Amino acid sequence: MRIPLSSPDITDREIERVCRVLKSGILSLGPCLQEFEEHFAEFVGTRFAVAVNSGTSALHLAVKALGITHGDEVITTSFSFVASTNCFLYEGASPVFVDVDPDTFNIDPRAILHFLVQKCRREGGRTIDIATGRTVKAILPVHVFGMPCDMDAICEIAREFKLFVIEDSCEALGATLCGQKVGTFGDAAAFAFYPNKQMTTGEGGLLVTNDERIASECRSLRNQGRGPNQSWLEHEKLGYNYRLSDIHAALGIAQLERIKQLLECRAQVARSYGEELSNHVGIRIPALADNKSRSWFVYVVQIAAGRVVRDSIIGKLRTNGIGCQTYFPAIHKQSYIRELMDHSQQDLPNTDHAAATCLALPFFTRMTKDEVTQVCWSLGHALEESLVAALVTAA
Ligand SMILES: *Cc1c(COP(=O)(O)O)cnc(C)c1O
Repeated sequence: MRIPLSSPDITDREIERVCRVLKSGILSLGPCLQEFEEHFAEFVGTRFAVAVNSGTSALHLAVKALGITHGDEVITTSFSFVASTNCFLYEGASPVFVDVDPDTFNIDPRAILHFLVQKCRREGGRTIDIATGRTVKAILPVHVFGMPCDMDAICEIAREFKLFVIEDSCEALGATLCGQKVGTFGDAAAFAFYPNKQMTTGEGGLLVTNDERIASECRSLRNQGRGPNQSWLEHEKLGYNYRLSDIHAALGIAQLERIKQLLECRAQVARSYGEELSNHVGIRIPALADNKSRSWFVYVVQIAAGRVVRDSIIGKLRTNGIGCQTYFPAIHKQSYIRELMDHSQQDLPNTDHAAATCLALPFFTRMTKDEVTQVCWSLGHALEESLVAALVTAA
């Protein structure tokens, strides 16, 4: 039996919606785009939603709209998908990676505060990185694997140091903190709809904000810098083609209509994994926290024995037709990022440990209990074999 790492959940409802757009002849900038944005803003609880062609584009537009630019710094996490750092590298800003919490894998507010208090000085309302002389402009937390960051602490720090907050919510659609959805805490937030996410538009993303200026700036930037009332070939600024087609938006509308069901199915799969794996020595299952309601993006376990055993398990599972992945290799270890960074910024022990031990297992809405059982059985065997092999090598 082959079990993929992820798989989208597409029903007749989605197919029918997309076909309707194809038959209508209005494939872009039509009614579905606006409808999708309105439904999404309502679901998340923000005033504005601007749909774009990827989560990366949404993050990039948030960075642009907040004026984060060459010579600025952004405090963020290295334990993430590269897009959360690339989005401000595009604008010439630099990352300050701070360490993560070892249980949630999310950026640790204490590490943010430590950097700001110990390594920065205040000057005329700005926060300056003493080592580089650059202005610190923003905090970019990532709700990793759908687990909400500690947004109360992060937003309080941001207020104190006059920093913007951009939430990378691409993995956390529907996750809440004390009942408030992620994506509503910062100045702007990005969501993503690649086929492995909680809902998909094929490719796609979306920026949410309560700030009318940010929303209208992003609407213009995604559409080649056109103003709201300008004709098609008049452009008031340098923009991009980051538009989401109505075909994609239609798929998004249909998925969003089923979002409660999609999220509940994923939570059920996670519960099944938890039941199967909770007594497994050497496998650490994902953390839960009381005031946080997680939205399940992936199911990531930690292999206590470390990188060599973890990588050996991946090889064995894949040989057995079971999809798995190292979520995430640390961003600060990527070759092109290494060239940008100085060594003082490479000391991230919790990030390195997470990157060495994390293992994403097959996880998707329609995964059956039998499939979960089989993955866990194979994982147990692969772990045992890999541990024995590691002992023999060590001896
Ligand atoms: C999926 C994802 C994105 C956006 O990805 P796209 O492929 O550009 O839609 C950004 N950040 C994180 C953490 C993600 O997981």
